[in-house]
Amino acid sequence: MAMKLKLLGVRGSRPTHKDAILGYGGNSTSIELELDSDFYLFIDGGSGLVQRGWELTEKPEKSKFHVLISHTHWDHILGFPFFEPLYHPQNKFTFYASNTSRATFTDLFFGLQKSENLPVPQNQLAAHIEFKTILPATPFVIENLVKVSTIQLNHQGVTLGYRIEYRGETMAFISDSAPIDHGNYLGENMPPCSIVNAEFEEQYNRSISKFLAGVHTVVFDTHFSEKNLKPDWGHSTPEKALQFCEMAGTKRLILFHHAPEDTDAVVRQKVEAILLKGLKKGIEIEAAREGDTWLLRSA
Ligand SMILES: [Zn+2]
Ligand SMILES: [Zn+2]
Repeated sequence: MAMKLKLLGVRGSRPTHKDAILGYGGNSTSIELELDSDFYLFIDGGSGLVQRGWELTEKPEKSKFHVLISHTHWDHILGFPFFEPLYHPQNKFTFYASNTSRATFTDLFFGLQKSENLPVPQNQLAAHIEFKTILPATPFVIENLVKVSTIQLNHQGVTLGYRIEYRGETMAFISDSAPIDHGNYLGENMPPCSIVNAEFEEQYNRSISKFLAGVHTVVFDTHFSEKNLKPDWGHSTPEKALQFCEMAGTKRLILFHHAPEDTDAVVRQKVEAILLKGLKKGIEIEAAREGDTWLLRSA
């Protein structure tokens, strides 16, 4: 085993809890990449991260944590103040995030601990915490072992997609991101909205496929369906996710960032609607289920 993908939280927008959604899980976005190395690696810290924090506190095996942030919408960061390892002085954290023109990740992170937001003050965060600002399309390496590539997605602010390569295994995390179509340019530094820029749209779509080329497993935002897609809300659909995977020749697509209102039956339908199409192209398709672990290779 080189790298395993663990789905800690698979829901988008907000955590939710009712019987009809519990098959896939109600916690918001967080994943862990389990490596045979002396550090932990996470992407995003939604409510799915919290339970994992208690497990790590009970059985501390490593003290180094690397955390990649896609963006700072609540559903992706609300678990951090409740992540127990941040309160222990032996732990060392490195957060990797982009900044927007309006706020730095560091300010937003500590803003979570302000008394108007939370009763636990910032000075209780006893771990050593370092922040690294990262940029779209600027790869970097963690601990001389993990290659991380980034791409800006079509979502508000500066939202980063990640491609992770470790000892010959690859995965990508594309969430949150709306399909670009007729002027819905949502990210900072993208062309002005409302003026359709066909050249930019083509170049953006090509850049996503290129980014995913050769990746084995892609975790992709499929919050909407083709029927209820709201192009300005920054989220994609299973059909659009599959199109990118087909163009890139990936082996597996994991539907992710399930809408809070989508029941298990609705999520299942989303998989079944594109399952055969994917199989014909050699792409395995499944929906992200909280608690599942995936090897990044085909059986
Ligand atoms: Zn989200
Ligand atoms: Zn978002």
